Amino acid sequence: MPGTLSRTTVGIVGAGPAGLMTSHLLARAGIDSVVVDHRTRAEIAGTQRAGILEAGSARLLTDTGVSDRVRREGRPHAGITLRFGGESHRVDFHALVGENVWLYPQTDVFADLAAARERDGGDVRYGVTGTRVTDLATDRPGILFTDAEGVAREVRCAVLVGADGSRGVCRAAVPEAARTHFSRTYPFAWFGVLVQAPPSADELVYTHSARGFALVSRRTESVQRLYFQCDPDEDPAAWGDDRIWAELQARVRGADGFALAEGPVLDRSVLRFRSFVCEPPRHGNMLLAGDAAHTVPPTGAKGLNLALSDARLLAETVERALATRDFGHLDAYGPRALRRAWRAQHFSYRMTTLLHRLPDASPFDERRQLAELSVLVGSEAASAHLAEGYTGLLR
Ligand SMILES: Cc1cc2nc3c(=O)[nH]c(=O)nc-3n(C[C@H](O)[C@H](O)[C@H](O)COP(=O)(O)OP(=O)(O)OC[C@H]3O[C@@H](n4cnc5c(N)ncnc54)[C@H](O)[C@@H]3O)c2cc1C
Repeated sequence: MPGTLSRTTVGIVGAGPAGLMTSHLLARAGIDSVVVDHRTRAEIAGTQRAGILEAGSARLLTDTGVSDRVRREGRPHAGITLRFGGESHRVDFHALVGENVWLYPQTDVFADLAAARERDGGDVRYGVTGTRVTDLATDRPGILFTDAEGVAREVRCAVLVGADGSRGVCRAAVPEAARTHFSRTYPFAWFGVLVQAPPSADELVYTHSARGFALVSRRTESVQRLYFQCDPDEDPAAWGDDRIWAELQARVRGADGFALAEGPVLDRSVLRFRSFVCEPPRHGNMLLAGDAAHTVPPTGAKGLNLALSDARLLAETVERALATRDFGHLDAYGPRALRRAWRAQHFSYRMTTLLHRLPDASPFDERRQLAELSVLVGSEAASAHLAEGYTGLLR
């Protein structure tokens, strides 16, 4: 049944980084929008996800007036460490390409965006249920949902944005014949833990070992975020603290004596991932942004950054279409967003296959990976290429 009807210029499903940043940028251009999300604000704020912002993403937050908190409270990382053969090798982004990335958790990005939308009078409806999108191929697409107070609503708009993540309703509402999916699944996942312990390293440590990949990162002065490669069907409950620490220490151990600072495990989960792109990221007057359009393995730290860059491209495109009253301009979004997304796919795929151990890997495969890693840290050109990809210069 249709609900209480309202109108807006841009209807947005999803209050993640893609949806909220799009709404913020549109508001700066004087374009009104309504954002709906089926999670509560507290639920989104408490979901641990990405942690690394490219320099361009940090600039987008500060220069467009979301918040300058990333500059005050984020930690600039001028490089990463690649650890293999039991030794650490630093890749100095600053020296190689003059850029750095920022350690700034997605929970903080969300808090900043949600606060900015609230400060600027944005219309964001959290905790809705039963979201559906309709009439996508018309000039009046709509979002149907029941709001947090239980009132059925219908929002009609000129442009609809599907920013509802990898399992949302928007992409699924596009007829199968009108979309092509490109994907790759991996025979491994990440076991992620949040631990109460001081940092083991100043910057991220990406570790290749015979037991599989491990990633060492920090959240605060007293909380670390650590990951190790595991089977996609691994049961987090089967892993006690002692077993987790033994596995992590075994993966990073080396002749140089590097070891992780240990403490109680606060949270543990298994993160499955895949490489995925939906083309085109448009159907009628609906545009897809962020994880709704593409997902990347977390190894390259690109997911959150892609969501923010989609929002920027999308807002620019919609602004032009509305200013000229020519919705043909919406065509420009797909090629621009896909160019960036495929470059990030390539980078993330390369980092993933370089550092993880395939279940059927042979000694040849392992030695070839080690040779590639030694080229990466031994050649300035190869290191610079890695630095360009990681810091987001290859857009
Ligand atoms: C567990 C986990 C760990 C991750 N770790 C990393 C990492 O270390 N590095 C990295 O770069 N990336 C990581 N990512 C990926 C990164 O978090 C995403 O790429 C990023 O959140 C994408 O932003 P988005 O706005 O497109 O989607 P999301 O952040 O997923 O936001 C989509 C929003 O849509 C809402 N929604 C979904 N369906 C509906 C519906 N039917 N109705 C209304 N609302 C709906 C959801 O509640 C959600 O708030 C991780 C992802 C996960 C799941």
